[in-house]
Amino acid sequence: MTSPIDVLIVGAGLSGLVAARRLQAEGLAVRVLEARERVGGRMVSATTANGSVVDLGGQWGGASHHRFEALLNELGIGRFPSHYDGKGVFHWRGRRLEAPLAQHFADSLLFFEPQALGLTPAELAATGALQRAFAALVAEVDPRQPWRTPEAERLDRLTVAQWAAAHTSLAVAQLPLAWLCRLGGSGGFEPWEASILHLAWTQAVAPQAETPEAWLVRGGAGAVAQRLAAELQAQAPGSLQLGRAVHSIAQDSQGVTVVDGAGQAHRARAAIVAVPPPQRLAIQFDPPLPAAHRTLLQRSPMGAMTKILATYARPFWRDRGLNGLGLGDRPALELTADSGPPEGHPAVLASFLAGERALILGALPAEQRRRIILDDLAAYWGPEAAEPLELVEQSWNAEPFSGGAFTSFLTPGSWTSHARLAADPQGGPAPADHGRVLWAGTEVSPRWPGYFEGAIEAGERAARLAAATASPGDQPA
Ligand SMILES: Cc1cc2nc3c(=O)[nH]c(=O)nc-3n(C[C@H](O)[C@H](O)[C@H](O)COP(=O)(O)OP(=O)(O)OC[C@H]3O[C@@H](n4cnc5c(N)ncnc54)[C@H](O)[C@@H]3O)c2cc1C
Repeated sequence: MTSPIDVLIVGAGLSGLVAARRLQAEGLAVRVLEARERVGGRMVSATTANGSVVDLGGQWGGASHHRFEALLNELGIGRFPSHYDGKGVFHWRGRRLEAPLAQHFADSLLFFEPQALGLTPAELAATGALQRAFAALVAEVDPRQPWRTPEAERLDRLTVAQWAAAHTSLAVAQLPLAWLCRLGGSGGFEPWEASILHLAWTQAVAPQAETPEAWLVRGGAGAVAQRLAAELQAQAPGSLQLGRAVHSIAQDSQGVTVVDGAGQAHRARAAIVAVPPPQRLAIQFDPPLPAAHRTLLQRSPMGAMTKILATYARPFWRDRGLNGLGLGDRPALELTADSGPPEGHPAVLASFLAGERALILGALPAEQRRRIILDDLAAYWGPEAAEPLELVEQSWNAEPFSGGAFTSFLTPGSWTSHARLAADPQGGPAPADHGRVLWAGTEVSPRWPGYFEGAIEAGERAARLAAATASPGDQPA
């Protein structure tokens, strides 16, 4: 048994680190146990062989991500606007079109000016009608208790694909919803894997229309986690321990006993668990989690996602009046985006293999997959794009303590059954806290779950509750 502390935090991702920072600022003794040999979880940068810093996980901040913005200001870390000047490229059914972006996402066909995409009047009408029907549904969703949405059970049993097909058989009209499933910030799933209630909920609580990809972190988002970890350690050496996967958490009337993979027991007055929801299943809780919570976790898989970073000597697409935003039905990449700074160095195109594509292409030999990816980059941005200085691939499904990305989703029917039963009747959509065990992690947040912003809000909430449970000076038994 190590010396007792006030609050034990499981997971050194952004959420756990923010919780630790808040508690430490209040004078509480904290200890963060992290399973990996590094901090940051889904917030991690890498330096390529030619010295460019690229983000393997999350990287954008949004226009209304005020917590994330405030944290960066506190840490003295800069930001820059994401590059959207010029035209993007829409690739559809073998046809490549350079097209302007729309002013507002709500009036766009996936960011593009719909009239500029060369669609037939029937396609335009069907696309607009489906988007309006979806927007009307999003407006009806109860964000805190989605199971209270009008006709919730019917909508929770219909997959996104079924709901879209009932409106139109035109693939281009169905594209925006399918794309939001796979690549929207709550994404990583196919339109037949989640209900229309789930997708509508994601847009009610984390609206694409609020431009969540507005700006980027100077020096890479991974630096934020590194800085938080360094500050934590500087304040109290030993308060962050790497390579310590938590295996069990037992609680009694006085506190919690947490045992890590090295067999070390830690005693505290409260615990904050800040891991992706399915990872909670790897921890033995005593008393056990309520049945509805456990069955909900079994119905909350992580999305399937591989992020690809291609670096170049210069952002040659910008020279041609293009902004790097590529979208369409290519075999591998349904989204590419310029994630470099205004000065153009490093020049980076970030792109994604999402949903089934991540798994199918992930199973191919590396060289074959690389050729398919480079073909797609060239299809969007021309032959130069097929010759990057470096091509970095990060499969999130291969990461044992993440299990996928961007975030977890609920399978059809789960909101109106397991999630409703697991929730605190007075609280938000996430499962109720478990006595002295408090939940954090982005997925717990009522706003921007799946994003950095949600990770911070969830960490702050858990820290507030933990501080009330464990005041300084109270020695845990
Ligand atoms: C490819 C990708 C792109 C993304 N893009 C964006 C973006 O542009 N903008 C945005 O806002 N968000 C984005 N996100 C999402 C964002 O990265 C996450 O929402 C956020 O980083 C989650 O932080 P977290 O602390 O909640 O969870 P995590 O980062 O997953 O941290 C959880 C930590 O817990 C640890 N852990 C797990 N199990 C245990 C255990 N048993 N014991 C101890 N430790 C354990 C893990 O190792 C991990 O370090 C993206 C994510 C990915 C992967």
